[in-house]
Amino acid sequence: MKSLIKNAYIVSPDIEIRNGAVLIENGTIAAVFMEGETVPAADHVFDAAGKMVVPGFIDIHVHGRSGCDFCDGTPEAVVTIADDKLKDGVTSFLGTTLTVGEPQLNVALQCAADYMKSPTGAKIAGIHLEGPFINPKCLGAQNPAFVKLPDIEMVKRLNAVYPIKKVSYAIEVEGALPFTRELLAMGITPSCVHTAASYADYEKASQLGLRNLSHFCNQMTPLHHRDIGMVGAGFLHDEAFIELICDKLHICPEMIKLVFKVKHADRIQLITDAMRAAGMPDGTYDLGGMNVTVEGNAARLENGALAGSTLLYYDGLKNILEITGRPLSELIKSTSWNQAQALAHLSHSKI
Ligand SMILES: [Zn+2]
Repeated sequence: MKSLIKNAYIVSPDIEIRNGAVLIENGTIAAVFMEGETVPAADHVFDAAGKMVVPGFIDIHVHGRSGCDFCDGTPEAVVTIADDKLKDGVTSFLGTTLTVGEPQLNVALQCAADYMKSPTGAKIAGIHLEGPFINPKCLGAQNPAFVKLPDIEMVKRLNAVYPIKKVSYAIEVEGALPFTRELLAMGITPSCVHTAASYADYEKASQLGLRNLSHFCNQMTPLHHRDIGMVGAGFLHDEAFIELICDKLHICPEMIKLVFKVKHADRIQLITDAMRAAGMPDGTYDLGGMNVTVEGNAARLENGALAGSTLLYYDGLKNILEITGRPLSELIKSTSWNQAQALAHLSHSKI
């Protein structure tokens, strides 16, 4: 089966082709053609009429969409999220969990495994465990009732239900360093967040191989001139990968500008961190057993803290394009390439 997309404005890392064509054979990109090149015959021909064709987005940190949360633990919730993420241009994502109890996580992961037997929308490339191994002083919108110390046996049990690709936790809590070592040995990406860690704590974890910071700037130690904290570590360490929520609320436009000025484009991973209100009207929603009120683009707990986002993936890309003024062929690295490289690396080798 051959499909051809013609008259396309093709944008990929370091590539921009006007009036190009993409040939897809049996679900895989077989060739890309420049303007004027002879294109082969195909079973299906789509005329993009000059519209943009970009690699499918990969959202490695998303909790929900369209009224559903990944932790709802129902087949309907998973299908709704996956189908509607695809409408946003997201072709795969990491089902991201909240700080809830293990039985609930178990059910959610089982739903992901069942969905992937015959996916109807975006693919679930694995699981991102956010919590429950976080610092109780840096909860954000995570439920304190379920916070616990790092527990590798729990990760192993869940990993047997559906593959875990990333765990986000606090590196300064008791047992976090051996936990980091164990995650790396399992081929799982350790990532720091919901943390009060000092820069010295980062250095210790970094020496073990930790390279990732989840929702950079949010729920982590800020940059201070006597201890540069996790934000300083993300800036100072070129090798560090950082997730960014670019809804202009979690991080102000000037910080987004600064991040793209300091960090290399191949170390930035755009995420939505969206909760169930994404794609829904204003109102009150549940987030891991807590009430969240959504007004405009802001989802907040009763205490005013931001509680995930309502961002749709392509709006994040539009925001960084508008804020940074950088070429799309550079920014597009942060929407798929970097995430794909990280996930492919995981599936082929241990870090
Ligand atoms: Zn979080």
